[in-house]
Amino acid sequence: MDRINIKFYDSLNKLLKKDKRGKKLSLELKLRQSVKDLIEAQGIPHTEVGMIIIDGKKEEFSFILKDGQEIEVYPAFNHVEEPKFQNLINYPKKFILDVHLGRLAKYLRIFGIDTLYQNYYSDKEIVETALKEGRVILTRDRGILKRRVVRYGYLIKSNDSKEQLREIFLNFHLLPEIKPFLRCISCNGILERVSKGEIMEELEPLTRKYYNEFLRCTMCKKIYWKGGHMERMEEFADKFLCSLRHYKKNGPMEKYNKEDIWKN
Ligand SMILES: [Zn+2]
Repeated sequence: MDRINIKFYDSLNKLLKKDKRGKKLSLELKLRQSVKDLIEAQGIPHTEVGMIIIDGKKEEFSFILKDGQEIEVYPAFNHVEEPKFQNLINYPKKFILDVHLGRLAKYLRIFGIDTLYQNYYSDKEIVETALKEGRVILTRDRGILKRRVVRYGYLIKSNDSKEQLREIFLNFHLLPEIKPFLRCISCNGILERVSKGEIMEELEPLTRKYYNEFLRCTMCKKIYWKGGHMERMEEFADKFLCSLRHYKKNGPMEKYNKEDIWKN
């Protein structure tokens, strides 16, 4: 039976079964098996892979493996501690999220990041829209990312939505992309400034009395006012950016009390 040797580097090891991490693995080959198929059989979607080296040479996913070959697999997403893996792939800065990531969608929109999300999307719709619009698929489902046609994708590692936001900011280098109050957090539509006069009829009496600056979503027509929603969005963004700076300087959030940062 034909065999190959394969080694996964850095963060890819976290996606392997515990007993396989950090070692060179000797694996049996199936007939005409591609390197994509072999890697995904180990539980790693191809979208997590940034570079494949076979016998010292960079190769594509479709490469058909032969007996005795030596394979090295490097991650697409760098760890902050491992800058040598940075920017293997040039990702678009727009996303489409699976149905379980509603809260993350809202968080990304607070920062003005182009984020599509609907709680009724099917996997097929997600994949097709991502391809058509050149979006990165964010999901916790390895199955979607193993589909051959998926070009850009990222497997969300954390369960916690704020930690997920941090993963996305660090892995996709989103800090320079921040545009506060650009997008509606409900629908991803673009916000526009409106005069009080224009929307007077739609305001609750107290809002009408106390607030004077307004934005309106060009798509769903939701109204945001300075001092209400906008202040809360700003506060969230400030706290998040502060925790991100702390993480970059001191490492994982576990090192200090997370609750302190998110307390109101
Ligand atoms: Zn909207």
